Amino acid sequence: VKPSEVLASFIERKEKFEPKINSYVTDLSEKALEEAKAKDEELTKLDDIPELFGIPIAIKDNISTKGIRTTCSSKMLENYIPPFDATVIEKLNQQGYIITGKTNLDEFAMGSSTENSAFFPTKNPWDFERVPGGSSGGSAAAVGAGIVPAALGSDTGGSIRQPAAFCGVVGLKPTYGRVSRYGLVAFASSLDQIGPITRTVEDSAILLNIISGKDEKDSTSSDVEVPDFTKYLRQDIKELRIGIAEEFFKGLNNEIKALINNAIKQLEKEGAEIIYISLPTVEYAIEAYYIIAPSEASSNLARFDGVRYGYRAKDYKDLEEMYSKTRDEGFGPEVKRRIMLGTYSLSSGYYDAYYLKAQKVRTLIYQEFMKAFDNVDVILTPTTPDVAFKLGEKSNDPIQMYLSDIYTVSVNMATLPAISIPCGFKNNLPVGMQFIGKPFDEGTILKVAHYFE
Ligand code: GLN
Repeated sequence: VKPSEVLASFIERKEKFEPKINSYVTDLSEKALEEAKAKDEELTKLDDIPELFGIPIAIKDNISTKGIRTTCSSKMLENYIPPFDATVIEKLNQQGYIITGKTNLDEFAMGSSTENSAFFPTKNPWDFERVPGGSSGGSAAAVGAGIVPAALGSDTGGSIRQPAAFCGVVGLKPTYGRVSRYGLVAFASSLDQIGPITRTVEDSAILLNIISGKDEKDSTSSDVEVPDFTKYLRQDIKELRIGIAEEFFKGLNNEIKALINNAIKQLEKEGAEIIYISLPTVEYAIEAYYIIAPSEASSNLARFDGVRYGYRAKDYKDLEEMYSKTRDEGFGPEVKRRIMLGTYSLSSGYYDAYYLKAQKVRTLIYQEFMKAFDNVDVILTPTTPDVAFKLGEKSNDPIQMYLSDIYTVSVNMATLPAISIPCGFKNNLPVGMQFIGKPFDEGTILKVAHYFE
């Protein structure tokens, strides 16, 4: 099949479902179709076809795309057109992919429902009255609705895995440092990672192969070997040691618990070894995360001052007022809340009590995971305590919203890789389960995840 035919079939589906789910901030279908037609020609002349040649992919709108508006779903960057591509975009380009559009997110990736987008909320493709999760809700909803085969998201505390679970798709958060963050608009730099959202585990492995690797432009990217992740698929899971930690089952909905137990039984039948472990400090992950992430955010977002990028307030009497009006008008309520939390935690007199303490908790979480990995190869958990909630249900209660990441944030705190895959349904809504791996061992989590396809 020709690239333009592939794309046309996705566009046809998009026209049907996009008006119902609103997953795109910027729909690039027309441009994509032109590109695809050019690729039809090119294809006849190629001896060696690049891996993603003509494959349509959607990109979360906090990843820089040269010449294409990159808004972070914020009024602050509503008209910002980056002059450069993120490293992951360069890599996808080299493989001949076609960008179909930029997807909606919670403003600056802060949130768990995509309701914090300054433009409009995205809806869950399984139930239009429910949220798709967040912050990569646009990417997950687009893949879940089948209007695009794959997308990129970013995950700081669960933003790839939680929406993947809510939308019934596969979401992978790579080890911190596996994928370059160059061109990802920074939220919390020590936690952020870009990763694939796909329909299958195999597609996840293919995309991870392409976006991984050391990058001169991101000093926190790691110089570790990138294996061919597809080699791990279809491997035997006999004797694989799978850890179950009780801390990940507290506050869990019973029907979801039953589905996870089912999966555990299947793994045992296949010859995997189930080992019960304990990770007590994980219970403090949310609290520590909501000190560390806002602290880093308050620092990273200082650059949006009306001078360097995007929005600038219209009426002001001096520079000071220009700054404060710009930030007041340009940022939404959740972003302001984070900036205030972070500025407070980092201020002199509070730094030791909050920021430093949270960093110590973070170290303990990392050490506990690493100790657990002496005895197990992967850890199996639910991805979320419950299925997708209704639009508006948690938007006035930030603490409730924060708790929907209770099983995902500790993974970012410990820099580990993790994948969320579908594991059944509760009331016709998809349920996700998560496999957490050792640092840079994405291969093993892909292997065990693939067993369920
Ligand atoms: N929901 C979490 C937050 O609001 C995580 C977001 C993310 O991973 N980008 O911070």
